Amino acid sequence: MPRRFPNIVLTGTPGVGKTTTAQQLVELSKSADPSSSHIPLKHLSINKIAKEQNFYDSYDEELQTNVVDEDKLLDHIEELISDGEGEGGWVIDWHVCDIFPERWVDLVVVLRCEDTNVFYERLTSDKKAETGETRGYEGKKLQENIDAEIFGVLAEEAKEAWPNEGQVVELQSVQAEQIEENAERIWTWCQQWVKDNAGRTDDSGG
Ligand code: ADP
Repeated sequence: MPRRFPNIVLTGTPGVGKTTTAQQLVELSKSADPSSSHIPLKHLSINKIAKEQNFYDSYDEELQTNVVDEDKLLDHIEELISDGEGEGGWVIDWHVCDIFPERWVDLVVVLRCEDTNVFYERLTSDKKAETGETRGYEGKKLQENIDAEIFGVLAEEAKEAWPNEGQVVELQSVQAEQIEENAERIWTWCQQWVKDNAGRTDDSGG
């Protein structure tokens, strides 16, 4: 059955603001007028799931990070997102985007932080929106993530995985007001998607 609501992958280097933006987007969907825009968006934080379900394969000492078992993760997510007859409305938040099957996803948003000084602060000193802990990256982990953001690695990966025109959108997330602007923009896109796809269920038999 076709999805009633769009699924979105919200990706980008750690620290670009995925969690904050996803939370804001879900708030917008909750506060929208239900008679005109009932789109129940749900935040799917992959970091949180991987931690809660212990989907870790190993620990990468050099990058000081847990390595996720992607097969276990995908099986689990498939179950989650096909629940409720797969109605959609998932905001999938992770720094990896190219493991998700194309058919699950309607839009990929890559958040970017083009100001390297700001981004450095986020990775070393700012608190994660998810847990409130300071990220405190250092050494190779810090350098790799800064480089990944400068070179737009995640955006390239996203465009390779979703090559069709308009599937991948890059949004800057440097200043505080951009959080709300970006959430609004994605929300507007969701409303348009629902309008454009309304009645698909009825048409599909014909
Ligand atoms: P991610 O989920 O991508 O790792 P977070 O949402 O945890 O990133 O954001 C990391 C930190 O940066 C948080 O302290 C958050 O408040 C801050 N932040 C994120 N986006 C912005 C922005 N556009 N302007 C100012 N601060 C931001």
